[in-house]
Amino acid sequence: MCGIAGYIGKGNVGIKLVGYLEKLEYRGYDSAGVAVVTPHGEISVVKRAGEVKKLKIAVPGDEAQTGIAHTRWATHGRADEINAHPHLSPDGSWAVVHNGIIENFDDLKRKYFADEEFFSRTDSEIIPRLLGRFAREKTMAGFMKCVRLLAGSFAIAAVAEGRNEIYLAKEKSPLYVAKKGTFLTVASDPICFGGEYGEYYSLLDGEFAHCFEGGVEFYDRDGKK
Ligand code: GLU
Repeated sequence: MCGIAGYIGKGNVGIKLVGYLEKLEYRGYDSAGVAVVTPHGEISVVKRAGEVKKLKIAVPGDEAQTGIAHTRWATHGRADEINAHPHLSPDGSWAVVHNGIIENFDDLKRKYFADEEFFSRTDSEIIPRLLGRFAREKTMAGFMKCVRLLAGSFAIAAVAEGRNEIYLAKEKSPLYVAKKGTFLTVASDPICFGGEYGEYYSLLDGEFAHCFEGGVEFYDRDGKK
């Protein structure tokens, strides 16, 4: 359970994302966080242990157009601020939220990052580590290559510095996308779309989506658009 949200569009992105998280609270949570891509292209993150409302006074994003958010129900690592999502790549160029369990995170850690200290105790941090190492160009192809290394269950939303884009992947955890004009919302439950959007798409297991200003493109498991 627990939840993911994402948004591309005008308005206060941080506040919008916290609003979506509040709608997802019924799925359970022990901590929550938001990452936005600032107008300067940097990724800014705020996380809090405990209730989603604690984020409200702290969220960044009044000028941002893109962000992702998460309510966590810990499976690996304590319910504290460090383990809360979003998780960053070491250079801060990728931020990731994840629902589910990455079953092979230990194997991947040993194989690719044996000499690196991780910030958190989560299985999820392996995702931004892989992106930081193998998806430096910040393309959909790079994102898909990294996700294909993962085993387990996941709904993943990622943002990269300098881009008003959201990268999505789904395997055994729900993920929906809705678009209206240039606005786009991503969520674990269509409840977040409210009356704002007419239609939405439910990603299938193995599918990916690339969201950008005014559009979204879907890819199948083999990477075919
Ligand atoms: N396994 C991840 C963690 O413990 C994600 C848990 C979740 O779905 O919220 O951080």
